Amino acid sequence: MSFSLDGVALSPGFGLGRAVIFRPLIFEERGGAVPEEDRTRERERFEAALDEAEAALMRLEADAASRLGPEKAALFGAHRMMVRDPLFVEGIREAIAAGRHADDAVVAKTAEIRALFKALPDPYLKERAADVDDVGRRLFRILRGLADPADLGGREGGPFVVVARDLAPSETALLDGNLVAALVTEQGGPTSHTAIIAQSLAIPAVSAVDSALERIAEGVLLAVDGLKGEVVVDPDDERIGSFRRDQEAFLKEQEEVELLRDLPARTADGLSVGLWGNIAGPDEAAKVLARGGTGVGLFRTEFLYMGRDEAPPEEEQLEVYRRVLGALAPHPVTIRTLDAGGDKEIPYLASLVGPEANPFLGYRAIRLCLDHPDLFRVQLRALLRAATEGNLWLMFPMVVDVEELRAAKALLRSCGDELEAQGLAWARPAKVGVMIETPGAVALADDLAREVDFFSVGTNDLTQYVLAADRMHPRLKRLQDPLHPALIRTLATVARAASTAAIDLGMCGEMAGDPQALPLLVGLGFRELSMTPARIPPVKKSLRALRASDLPSLVEGALAAVTTEEVRQLLISFRENS
Ligand code: PEP
Ligand code: MG
Repeated sequence: MSFSLDGVALSPGFGLGRAVIFRPLIFEERGGAVPEEDRTRERERFEAALDEAEAALMRLEADAASRLGPEKAALFGAHRMMVRDPLFVEGIREAIAAGRHADDAVVAKTAEIRALFKALPDPYLKERAADVDDVGRRLFRILRGLADPADLGGREGGPFVVVARDLAPSETALLDGNLVAALVTEQGGPTSHTAIIAQSLAIPAVSAVDSALERIAEGVLLAVDGLKGEVVVDPDDERIGSFRRDQEAFLKEQEEVELLRDLPARTADGLSVGLWGNIAGPDEAAKVLARGGTGVGLFRTEFLYMGRDEAPPEEEQLEVYRRVLGALAPHPVTIRTLDAGGDKEIPYLASLVGPEANPFLGYRAIRLCLDHPDLFRVQLRALLRAATEGNLWLMFPMVVDVEELRAAKALLRSCGDELEAQGLAWARPAKVGVMIETPGAVALADDLAREVDFFSVGTNDLTQYVLAADRMHPRLKRLQDPLHPALIRTLATVARAASTAAIDLGMCGEMAGDPQALPLLVGLGFRELSMTPARIPPVKKSLRALRASDLPSLVEGALAAVTTEEVRQLLISFRENS
């Protein structure tokens, strides 16, 4: 029977496919003994799971090699070796022969070997514990018949719609846009990293779908509308027909905006505004250029630290930064230093962070980096060395006061001195700036502005901190809206500080890619707007239709508005009347 479920639109587009349910993994033993006569069958089940895991890892390795680069591929290669590791496999076979369920034997052996690795003094071998865990979980998933969202290559009947409680950024990053028609999650707001990655992979996505895992059956056909935030379960033919028409209209509109690519980004009366792209890895640089972007306003480097067992070494980071800077030169590339924490968990840094009741208010980003200069210096050195290659704008995240900024800049200087003493080629970044994404930074904006070359406002975090509303919380949609008057007035404060100090003012939160908010942002003085590359063409279309001379009265009205609805109505009537 057909029915529809409402959620929040995360990533635009239309996807039709069969549901693959991805349940959170409870990696625990169920207990009990297997009777003597069933043990051979249990052993066969285990051997088949080994073959399946090996085949999946080979597929993932080949796929990662072509899409994500040799580093990620090597990780799957290492996991594939472990599937055949005698210490691991023989122990499980023995436990099965003694009457344990295959999945229980996998859980127990994984815990045992994991503990062995963890106890080793060599830090490299210690980190291998995470690989053992990954392989154990993969076998467990196969034995229990649970899906792996990153490995749909071996399944019949695609394309698929992945249905999950939530997806970790590392899981989303591995998704294959050719097999995954759409994502549906119970959790995750419009500015979550799942949303950001789904948009960069151009996979339609809907989140905050209440009880999706209970209400959607495995294998059922789903029509996902990532514009409206609607999921139709088991649509009838008529519904599929109208869905396809909407899909075609959407694609046609996308093509039209492509035509804008080479036209200049300026208002009808000649005011230029930089429309730049946000990226999470070096390969996305090409997407920015393909969409007509003329810079990168945010490279989220934390993604380089994910899906691996240790922080990327200096040479590896250097290579990545060089590639991006080289690809965009002479355009600016804004590289943000490591912003770990919040919803961006990096397992091997967890021991530095410790347990946290409020990760978004926790030991994250610049706080963690300043306390761990060994970790931070590797990145800063790589950035300074890469700066010879192009136009580097270096940016510090989550700064709350001048002290943090000064400490970060001092560390940067000392890395420069060290490189100089070592005789290595390096250069000062063209600009050094801070993200304005905390109320502390807003209150001190005048002081920060005197010590940096640019501000880039992160409205995703700034909204959550100004309105005290978790950006991931499914029930706080009303307070995840940057058109809230408290935010608009905050933006005006930041803009004034940037203008007084005559520094560049940009924005790289999701608000920067909203054509509706555009007149207000340009009117407030934002001159670099950085967004997911797919948003560049529609924003350019809106920009070219604007007249800068019409904006001061809009800004005046928006700053006088006292509700989000008033701000929204002002923007709607501005668009209708101009
Ligand atoms: C922001 O907070 O607005 C931002 C751009 O950073 P992130 O979304 O990575 O936290
Ligand atoms: Mg942020």
